[in-house]
Amino acid sequence: MCRQQSGLEIAVRGGGHGVAGHGVVDDGLVVDLRRMNGVQIDPDARIARVGGGATWGDFDRACRFYWLGTTGGRVSTTGVAGLTLGGGSGWLERKFGLTCDSLVSVELVTADGRLLIADETKNPELFWALHGGGGNFGVATALTFRLQRLPVTTLALLFWSMDAGPAVFRAYRDLIEQRAPDELGGAAVYLTGPPEEFVPEQLRGTLIAGVVAVYAGDEAEARDVLAPLLHWLRRGRWSRRCRISSCSRRWTIRPGFAITGPPSICRRCPIRRCRRSASGLRTCRRRHRRSS
Ligand SMILES: Cc1cc2nc3c(=O)[nH]c(=O)nc-3n(C[C@H](O)[C@H](O)[C@H](O)COP(=O)(O)OP(=O)(O)OC[C@H]3O[C@@H](n4cnc5c(N)ncnc54)[C@H](O)[C@@H]3O)c2cc1C
Repeated sequence: MCRQQSGLEIAVRGGGHGVAGHGVVDDGLVVDLRRMNGVQIDPDARIARVGGGATWGDFDRACRFYWLGTTGGRVSTTGVAGLTLGGGSGWLERKFGLTCDSLVSVELVTADGRLLIADETKNPELFWALHGGGGNFGVATALTFRLQRLPVTTLALLFWSMDAGPAVFRAYRDLIEQRAPDELGGAAVYLTGPPEEFVPEQLRGTLIAGVVAVYAGDEAEARDVLAPLLHWLRRGRWSRRCRISSCSRRWTIRPGFAITGPPSICRRCPIRRCRRSASGLRTCRRRHRRSS
């Protein structure tokens, strides 16, 4: 049933991660592609043919047996088609380009019900529009990607207490801008420390600064590339000053892969012993002054 005959509003649902909600429509027809999630790999030609409803989890599961891959979504439940038709940004983009750069062809059902192939020779202008133009050109029932050899990938999660964030992020920016090879990708984020084993207990549930580093290579190489960042940390150049203005005490922040921040009021200050310090520094300070 084509759009013109039915007159219905049509929405296309792939992985369901479109935050604008365009994958569903009221009083219309939702073309739900979830069951078209097959992924076929041709390891010799290094090609993947992916169903219009496959997610990046489906894609990665099929590719990993052959040590092949391409730039994909950062979250495995995102749809391959939805992400690719919007361009597609991912961990490996510095090495392999945007996701759409690896597109070889797209099989598409247009609004008037025609089944087309778009590639560099057939319907080249439509193919160009499918490189980031969004999902408005038809229903992509299959996409074909060129794959890259990817024997091993290293992931590093680096955490710091929140107030180390500006210094850490500057160091990360300089590393990416000036020294890092294309194999290194990643992100710098503020996040709430998740309740996971690999997160130091004192950072769980608090706002922390993190760097996610993804390296298209082995761990030794990754450590080497990240050395300027890690080395800079190891010199312990960060210190934190006690929040009480009359106190001059400082701490050096303990460096490492997971840096735990010391409390922002030093142990010597009486305010630390006040149970009400959490409710407001001023009140507490006044109380201590009065009692002293
Ligand atoms: C948690 C999260 C993480 C994300 N991470 C990234 C990321 O790392 N990199 C990145 O680039 N983007 C990312 N995005 C954005 C995401 O790529 C887009 O929202 C994308 O449109 C989601 O596609 P979908 O198929 O999952 O969503 P859906 O809601 O199913 O689809 C969104 C729209 O895409 C179009 N579409 C989907 N499938 C097809 C198809 N087969 N044929 C034609 N049109 C189709 C339709 O217009 C549809 O309305 C993320 C989004 C979320 C929520």
